[in-house]
Amino acid sequence: MAKYDKKRIGELIDGTLEFYQLKDMMTSHKDPERFEIYREVLQDRVSWDDPILLPYGLHLYIVQKANGDRIVKCDCGHEFCDYRENWKLQARIFVRDTEEKMNEIYPKLMSPDPEWQVIREYYCPSCATQLEVEAVPPWYPIILDFEPDIDTFYNEWIKKPLPTVK
Ligand SMILES: [Zn+2]
Repeated sequence: MAKYDKKRIGELIDGTLEFYQLKDMMTSHKDPERFEIYREVLQDRVSWDDPILLPYGLHLYIVQKANGDRIVKCDCGHEFCDYRENWKLQARIFVRDTEEKMNEIYPKLMSPDPEWQVIREYYCPSCATQLEVEAVPPWYPIILDFEPDIDTFYNEWIKKPLPTVK
């Protein structure tokens, strides 16, 4: 039996829990249904039907397509690519690489030196939501943050069947 219902997990995602509730949740045993409820709450919040396999950031998910593909998808419905490829290469990228662009977000003289560090902002091409921000040296490659082992997660960690296309 799950200790927390969808309403409570939704509040966890929204950050609207009282601290004592959050502390209780963090310090108690994780009930085995927790991930499934979390996944269902996320699924209820998107307008499309592709089953969410894993959340992949604040607005991104790895979803199961009917043809067997597992792709990265934005909550607006924009589909990026296979989850093993780098979705960032298909995002709109804004690079803050001058003092002028830095000063849009930093006070004057408080910004990083763009010769040494730039800020890359990644946006969804469809809904323009900011998906990721990274501060890196200018020559740094656009790296894939992580490549989860989805099958191991379901089969060995949470021991649940993978969500399937209805
Ligand atoms: Zn989007």
